[in-house]
Amino acid sequence: MAYHVTLIPGDGVGPEVTEATKRVLEATGVTFHWDLAHLGGGAQELFGTPLPDYVFESIRKNKVALKGPVTTPIGSGFRSVNVALRKELDLYACLRPYKIYPGAPTPFKDVDIVVVRENTEGLYSGIEFEVGASDTARLIELVGETKERVLGEDTSVSLKVISRTASQRIVKFAFDYARANHRKKVTAVHKANIMKFSDGLFLAIAREVAKEYPDIEFDNVIVDTLCMQLVRAPQQFDVLVLPNLYGDIVSELCAGIVGGLGVAPGANLGDDMAIFEATHGSAPKYTGQNKVNPMAMMLSGVMMLHHLGEAKNADRLEKAIADVIAEGKNVTYDLKPDAPSDQVVGTSQVADAVIEKLEETS
Ligand code: NAD
Repeated sequence: MAYHVTLIPGDGVGPEVTEATKRVLEATGVTFHWDLAHLGGGAQELFGTPLPDYVFESIRKNKVALKGPVTTPIGSGFRSVNVALRKELDLYACLRPYKIYPGAPTPFKDVDIVVVRENTEGLYSGIEFEVGASDTARLIELVGETKERVLGEDTSVSLKVISRTASQRIVKFAFDYARANHRKKVTAVHKANIMKFSDGLFLAIAREVAKEYPDIEFDNVIVDTLCMQLVRAPQQFDVLVLPNLYGDIVSELCAGIVGGLGVAPGANLGDDMAIFEATHGSAPKYTGQNKVNPMAMMLSGVMMLHHLGEAKNADRLEKAIADVIAEGKNVTYDLKPDAPSDQVVGTSQVADAVIEKLEETS
């Protein structure tokens, strides 16, 4: 059977890590029909928009996409196409498993954490009021009238939106994931002590949903305490469920704990569509240098194989990647931070080494 998958190379280092991942996925023996689609900077040049409609059409048709990172201009220019994609396709759950593969450069041991990040609202609602704009003046007036708080005219505002519906579905997603994957505990992460209405609602819903899953332990932690505990004893955490911004930040913290962005995969999932992409961004300074680690993207490919029901091939690919890391001969600079440059390899050589390992198990 052949799987139809939308393939989005992205920009920056995206095309290189995507190509390496495509090669190892094909080497598993699974057949793919790749439906190539451009997003971000490349699409802007080709179509005059960073997010052309045909990308949505392709993903809606294929239901599954493998995506390289896409650059987002800071402060001005187009809003994040990543955020827009997730919202438009209602990919409400960002799933990021972080585990330590022996040989990865980290002082920690035995970490196996799954981050479940709400993907559609929170501080990434995209509802923003720019300093000096007329709608901002109206908002400032409203806050003055209803909250008796004076906001200066030099204020910008971004809305943090937390809804009952989105909170319920993301917490349910986390518990369902925990149950299906034999995980023991779900921890809800929040700052409900300060943001009583937004994070307070998220926590209240999490407590409510937890009652439906008596077989899974539930607890909650304030996000700043979580960060401290993660760097002291990350092994105590299992599945974390977080609103959008905390999920984004804590993901990178967890990536650091397990050995860096080069080994940090991810997926954006909705009820019937999925985009698989690494945690990392487009690392523009390394564009075209055959330098960065493709394993984060490859491990996202492993998640994709599981999603497609190809568990055996997913396990084979994960083992091949793990073997290359453990051997330490054909890894990129990030996995051997102290090694001279002639003792590390480039993106495409990592793909060669993974394919060689796969061939040993075919
Ligand atoms: P980044 O993740 O692109 O890179 C930060 C640093 O991490 C790099 O300079 C590099 O040293 C290291 N790194 C990243 N990926 C690596 C890899 N595969 N192997 C080895 N080292 C790696 O973060 P940034 O520089 O803050 O963001 C660059 C752009 O990417 C921004 O425009 C940002 O908005 C965008 N971004 C996109 C996505 C996405 O498409 N899903 C995600 C995050 C950031």
